[in-house]
Amino acid sequence: MRSITKIDLQYAHRFYGFQGEAQYLHGHTGVLTIEVEDTIEPGVNMVFPCNEIQKTAWAVLKNFDHALILREDDPLLPAILDVYEKQGIKNGAPSNKMKGDAFKTELATAYPDCRLVVTKETMTVEGMIKIVYDLLKDKLNIVKLTFTSGVNAACAEFPAQESRARCPLCGVALNENGVCPKCGWRKA
Ligand SMILES: [Zn+2]
Ligand SMILES: [Zn+2]
Repeated sequence: MRSITKIDLQYAHRFYGFQGEAQYLHGHTGVLTIEVEDTIEPGVNMVFPCNEIQKTAWAVLKNFDHALILREDDPLLPAILDVYEKQGIKNGAPSNKMKGDAFKTELATAYPDCRLVVTKETMTVEGMIKIVYDLLKDKLNIVKLTFTSGVNAACAEFPAQESRARCPLCGVALNENGVCPKCGWRKA
């Protein structure tokens, strides 16, 4: 069975070099739907608690929220960093609190201090699905991702992974020692 959850992301981007309005900087509220598949853990009668899927995903994905997402070769990138630098907000600001953990993958690098994500490819809805799967595939048994942004939407399905052992009391995945990281329950 599947547990399904949604996350809203507000971001600005543009399609550098694209022949259309999207080559201009603009913003969206994107909605990411994450579908996690596994057996039902009988103790909690759930595949996985949806709020825990959200927490795991949000820890990295908040880097995309209220963020600017630009392709690595976009000339706006040095121009914006120059402005942030002069304004003294490039390396953080007291009001910039909702920071995710910095990450660097093949497809994207997050700079939480200035709320910027630099991507290898244009950040279309399809591009976002590739980035998100890469970031979360080792943490969650994701079998489907859907991302909508304005009139654009894309989805992709992924192969099922091996079942994860979960806590019968709270449903979260047990760590490598068979212990629940949330309540301390231990597998006999
Ligand atoms: Zn757009
Ligand atoms: Zn537990």
